[in-house]
Amino acid sequence: MQLQVPKLSKLENRSLSGFRCFPERLPGPGRNGERGVSKDKIPEGWALGADRIFFSGGSPAPSLPYLEKLVEEARKLGDGNVKVNYDTNGFLTEGSLRRVLDFTTSVTFDIKAYHDDVHRALTGAPVEPVLRNAKYIAENAPERLWEFRVLLIPKITEGEVKPIAEFLSAIDSEIPLNFLAFRPNFVFEDYQGVTREALDRAVEVAREAGLKNVNWSGRADLPGKIFEATASEYDESGAKRAGGIAKRAGCVTLPRDCGSCQAIHQCPIKGYKPGRRT
Ligand code: SF4
Repeated sequence: MQLQVPKLSKLENRSLSGFRCFPERLPGPGRNGERGVSKDKIPEGWALGADRIFFSGGSPAPSLPYLEKLVEEARKLGDGNVKVNYDTNGFLTEGSLRRVLDFTTSVTFDIKAYHDDVHRALTGAPVEPVLRNAKYIAENAPERLWEFRVLLIPKITEGEVKPIAEFLSAIDSEIPLNFLAFRPNFVFEDYQGVTREALDRAVEVAREAGLKNVNWSGRADLPGKIFEATASEYDESGAKRAGGIAKRAGCVTLPRDCGSCQAIHQCPIKGYKPGRRT
């Protein structure tokens, strides 16, 4: 199977609108659809050379019916060539993925981890649906796949590079993979950014695993500290470290499983107020 990557520069895949997953805070989909296709309404997006509506999150999946309506409205108003990018954490049902593929031009797809316990420690959710959806899109809609993305966090996801690259390479060696440089943020606000050397090494490891189209992006070498791996409830050392950070921020269910957590409606992490942004 040959993977067809859209023939567009990275610059062209910038967000036109930055719609996020809070429909209750947004005007109706018709009005936002109009914003998405009008140069007058979002001049910053057009000034950046944006060529498409870009849905991101968190995850835009909880707002799927809203997004479908918005795209329908935008396409009625546009010149028939309104492009849409859907940025996903990969955690959606098979039915939702098919609905997403029905209206998108391109997809950017995060794979946070390959090992289940690292994925749970970082996200509170199992990895199986993410890998299932990654395989589905790579095999059935490769022309929509802008790239897979792996956030490289020092001593947390570095051990995920090889298995993720092997997983993708076994599907198709042409699959595009981009390592994103971790930025200290939210409950990880004091954690160290990733070095340029580690990003270069990740690219090398992925190429050795057989992938031909690998790169990295973002700001490297941001200062911070590497925390101890304190959460013994997990197996992988990256998960022990990430789980320890979640625990420190107030997570009460270890290993993390937000889907069945009794505290989900009073989750202390949701209310966490970071002291800084990078
Ligand atoms: S407290 Fe519960 S809902 Fe909050 S992060 Fe931990 S597992 Fe998830």
